[in-house]
Amino acid sequence: MPELRIVTLTFAAQALSAAVIAVVLFGFRRQYGKSYLAHWTASWVALAIHHLADAATVLLPAAHPGRLAAAVVADVAGYLQIAWMLFGVYELLRRRPVRMRVAKNLLVTLAIVGVAGALVFAEAARAGIYAFLSAAAYFVASIAFWKARKRREGIGFTMISAPFFAYALQQTHYLVIAVASLLGFEAGYLLYLGYADFLLQSMTGIGMIACLLEDEREASELAAVEAGHLAYHDAMTGLPNRPLFMDRLIVALAQANRANQKLAVFFLDLDRFKDINDSLGHSTGDALLKGVAERIRRCVREGDTVARFGGDEFTLLIPKIENIEDVAKIAQKIIDNLKIPFLIAEREMFVTTSIGIGIFPGDGHDPETLVRNADTAMYRAKDQGRDNYQLYAPAMNARALERLALENLLRKALSHHELRVYYQPLVDLASKRIVGLEALVRWQHPDLGFLLPAHFISTAELSGLIIPIGHWVLLTACKQLRQWQKRVDSDLTVSVNLSARQFQQPNLVSSVAEVLDESGIDPRSLELEITESNAMQNAEVTIHTLRELKALGVRISMDDFGTGYSSLNYLKRFPIDTLKLDQSFVREVNTDRRDAAIVSAVISMAHSLDLTVVAEGVETEEQLGFLRQERCDRIQGFLFSAPMSAEELEPYLMSQRAMRSVTG
Ligand code: C2E
Ligand code: CA
Ligand code: CA
Repeated sequence: MPELRIVTLTFAAQALSAAVIAVVLFGFRRQYGKSYLAHWTASWVALAIHHLADAATVLLPAAHPGRLAAAVVADVAGYLQIAWMLFGVYELLRRRPVRMRVAKNLLVTLAIVGVAGALVFAEAARAGIYAFLSAAAYFVASIAFWKARKRREGIGFTMISAPFFAYALQQTHYLVIAVASLLGFEAGYLLYLGYADFLLQSMTGIGMIACLLEDEREASELAAVEAGHLAYHDAMTGLPNRPLFMDRLIVALAQANRANQKLAVFFLDLDRFKDINDSLGHSTGDALLKGVAERIRRCVREGDTVARFGGDEFTLLIPKIENIEDVAKIAQKIIDNLKIPFLIAEREMFVTTSIGIGIFPGDGHDPETLVRNADTAMYRAKDQGRDNYQLYAPAMNARALERLALENLLRKALSHHELRVYYQPLVDLASKRIVGLEALVRWQHPDLGFLLPAHFISTAELSGLIIPIGHWVLLTACKQLRQWQKRVDSDLTVSVNLSARQFQQPNLVSSVAEVLDESGIDPRSLELEITESNAMQNAEVTIHTLRELKALGVRISMDDFGTGYSSLNYLKRFPIDTLKLDQSFVREVNTDRRDAAIVSAVISMAHSLDLTVVAEGVETEEQLGFLRQERCDRIQGFLFSAPMSAEELEPYLMSQRAMRSVTG
């Protein structure tokens, strides 16, 4: 009988494939120990039994008592298969086990329903109920996998979702056939559906295996990442460890070398940490180290690497530094921050640190040398009484320290009234009269003595102190001018130097306006001097700022002209009034033909642009003669007068007034 053979064959094939998949899953279950695999193994075993029992119901004669028993077994196995399949899906997606009690109760209930159904219902109704439950379960599982597919990499969940969905459709198909059969319609092709069943069922099995393999792959990748992190980080502080630090240093050195940049390596060692550890215990020591790590990390920028080198040693890599002052600032910041007491187990703990610093390229070209030299410098910091930092290169150290010391003194210079303004006359060549004064700052320090700008202006620039200092000079000079205008000469002007830093300051114009207001001078009697190189730094911005200053009514002078790189084009566009010929040209006008040629060319060019020309640094009669011959407008220099204090200068101004009133 061919029909019977077909049925037997397809059932046997399905049972066999289910059994094979069960064996495979069981094998994986033993290997990976995942509990969802146990559920799925059970589910496939149940499915194999379901198929075998189903085959028996078909093969046994209608009246055979074994047939009812087979139906009971088939139904119970079928229901349990669905439940176990779902348990497995739940555990895989939710990553937690199903609750045993709930699972057990459900399985027992399903078994009872299976037994009762097999005893009570006719074959078509039994098939319908089973198909309904199975379709519903596979739909749910398929949707769950589809939704979860984005959470994971790989295509495992998509691959399992599709056959589950197809299987659910097939079960829906069976449900329709069962309902039709109850209504008296028989599907003639029922027999051949067994082939499709075999195929779909095998595919769900393959999908499960694919899914499981991908799940494992992902888990092992995560484990690898975790292991990698552990290998390159210190478990306690979470900071990079020594190997990672050295790795990053190699990369940073290559970059610094290529870009011609400086790089700094700090070596930090906590002072007397061993005492803390020994007296208060390791857990306190650990908590302190964690706190220290966090504080250091907060003192540096994102691109910097803080590492725990070992014990109470930390290292810091700053891949890009501009100058030594910046490095010193960071070191001081760390030292100051660590000094703030730590609160550990409700008690205050005090810790200080010694820092050694190595700088590429000066202190070494390879990672080992740099770290070793930073370490050496750290020991020097310990020798110096701890709680301080030392740069490796001794010369650099001395210069940086000197500069920092100077900066600290300069910080107090203003409030301690140590700064003075000196005035140097600008003399009109035609009338031989003092028409203007250049304000020049001086620093009278109780220990260091009388200091010229060359000793402190660059430090003031670097530290930003030039802003308040420059403002003070401007205000002092304007107030002094007001006095002299009242008492000596109402046409007198004053020139004040502006540094690059001041010139870039966004509120420069308003602060100048404020000074004009406060001193009460006519804006036209103030001249601001900017150097040619400052002006050229960002020519367009310079033009804009100069226009704003001009709008206040003040005059602009181009200082040190001839020393920077200048473009005539810009000179024409800068709204300036005066050009100050740099002293270096004036010095050699009588001995160097080229300098003489330059001076005469600059003077005539300036005149053609309607600018007043001032020659700086005029020291001899010969220089004066040449300048007069070239029709220079004004001169400034020791020949006439060195810069003087207001008190010293005043008699000169008074005598000039007296002369004027005599000559009329
Ligand atoms: P500068 O603006 O070119 O000032 C002229 C400098 O030449 C002054 O030096 C002055 O004393 C000096 N000098 C004047 N006549 C002669 C001379 O005949 N021969 C020689 N060899 N030198 C002469 P000082 O006062 O030492 O100032 C140096 C520089 O410091 C100034 O150069 C200026 O750039 C800067 N500076 C001075 N005071 C201030 C200030 O208040 N603010 C700013 N930003 N810079 C200032
Ligand atoms: Ca000047
Ligand atoms: Ca000058």
